Amino acid sequence: MKSQNENGITRREFFRNTTITGAAIAAGAGGMLLPVSSSSAQQTGITGKTIKEAARETRVCRTADVVVVGGGPGGIGAALAAARSGADTVLIERYEHLGGMGTGGLVTIIPNLSDFSGKQQIAGITQEWIDRLNKREAADYPKKEHWGSDDKKLVAYYQNRSFFNIREQRVIYSVHIDAEISKCILQDMMEEAKVKTYLHAWGTEPIMEGNKARGVIFESKSGRQAVLAKIVIDSTGDGDLLPYAGADFKMDIERTMRIANLSFSYWIDNVDLKKYEDYKASHTKELTDHMREVRKAGGHGGFLASNLKNQEHVVWCFPRYANSSQVDVDELTRVEFKGRKDMLITHDYFKKNIPGFEKSFIVLSNPQLGTRGARRVTGDYVVKEKDMNTDIPFPDTVAVFPDVDRGKNSIKYPVTYMPYRCMIPAKVDNMLVACRAFASEMIVNEYFNLIPHCIALGEAAGVAAAQAIAGNVDLRKIDIKALQATLKKRGVILPG
Ligand SMILES: Cc1cc2nc3c(=O)[nH]c(=O)nc-3n(C[C@H](O)[C@H](O)[C@H](O)COP(=O)(O)OP(=O)(O)OC[C@H]3O[C@@H](n4cnc5c(N)ncnc54)[C@H](O)[C@@H]3O)c2cc1C
Repeated sequence: MKSQNENGITRREFFRNTTITGAAIAAGAGGMLLPVSSSSAQQTGITGKTIKEAARETRVCRTADVVVVGGGPGGIGAALAAARSGADTVLIERYEHLGGMGTGGLVTIIPNLSDFSGKQQIAGITQEWIDRLNKREAADYPKKEHWGSDDKKLVAYYQNRSFFNIREQRVIYSVHIDAEISKCILQDMMEEAKVKTYLHAWGTEPIMEGNKARGVIFESKSGRQAVLAKIVIDSTGDGDLLPYAGADFKMDIERTMRIANLSFSYWIDNVDLKKYEDYKASHTKELTDHMREVRKAGGHGGFLASNLKNQEHVVWCFPRYANSSQVDVDELTRVEFKGRKDMLITHDYFKKNIPGFEKSFIVLSNPQLGTRGARRVTGDYVVKEKDMNTDIPFPDTVAVFPDVDRGKNSIKYPVTYMPYRCMIPAKVDNMLVACRAFASEMIVNEYFNLIPHCIALGEAAGVAAAQAIAGNVDLRKIDIKALQATLKKRGVILPG
């Protein structure tokens, strides 16, 4: 994956040679096609298939202890935890809001916070976020006294609200949230923690000195700027910084897997769900036929109800586009265009044929396309399938994930443990990967890259980064027991 410029210099080698001065960093030709300033445009050597970018100086707009790229679940956990641990922290997010898939991707289900017995296993920042949402009636979840229950009536009731509420025929702790309120709460949390946040800012590459990360370059309406930092955290979901940091990573995903799919999500409002439910109960076969017809016409069947108070007439559609590359601009564009076309076909069909949808309208299509899987870093430790089938924690466990529904693969233990090392890119210093790009075999990523998982990894990464800086030690040499103790103090649930 290393790109080369005309002189045969890889980006990794090139950034090894980047000169870092006080107010500006000097950079040479990199090989990536980016807009160039008018002064450098004249010096650009245009050949056939590549162009040679002119050397340039980039303004350092900020120095910090920690810079986090990506303001989704992983980045939120990382930035908040680092800042709250005393690190001067910068967060860079390409869109105009925080939350990643959990807001802009219209993914509003925070599942599997408890195991099947009803014991809560994920808390920390995730719980704090839910508590704040709850105060605004922007979260919906089964009552605590019902977690773990296998009472048939309760199971049927919660299952009807959402299949995410039920695992192994028991009620579990899963939460439905309001995406818009969530955006507001997340930015409040950043401000309160004094995280310097740049929105509308696309993190393009890490600044490297040899194998040491020294900061990040980002592009925005203000041009190309650099943030210098002691530790860089890649929370882009897709591991965008990895190719330019010289980190190894994998991108293999079996086409049948959940994480092989892009999704184009949208909400339909003003649906009379009561009327729809009555129709579903009395015309089961007819409804199945309609769903087949809509698919034949190029649309898709199936949706989930919002469940939030006063949103009983909103449904979420999230058609999947299988086996798409999630880091290819042509493919991302193709799915956006196709997704919008299919959305119209589907809604037109529903409106005309499905009782309850007569007066409905499309209220929003996803501000950011749904991505589930892309690069996975090769870390100091890669979490493996066998790690999902043991009840022995790692000595450096920093997160505990309740097991998910594994389809035909039977569940052996109620939780899976995540080691700190799965966030450290092998061969790279001063960098952590705290998002769904964590070091994992694809089957582990399939089950454990959900929103609460990424927040939990981020939270551990943020505390670890601040601890390394405070103690002036390498990320690989931090005191793991101290890290675990801090996480526990913050409400993170860990073994023992
Ligand atoms: C349709 C769909 C349904 C899903 N259903 C569920 C579900 O029900 N429950 C659940 O928990 N999970 C679900 N998931 C999975 C879950 O949403 C993701 O795995 C999770 O959001 C990953 O978090 P993340 O922080 O790694 O990445 P993301 O959520 O993708 O966040 C990454 C953030 O980084 C930003 N970013 C990316 N690149 C750059 C860059 N170069 N510079 C600056 N910023 C950048 C993005 O804009 C984004 O804000 C679903 C996913 C999809 C697509």
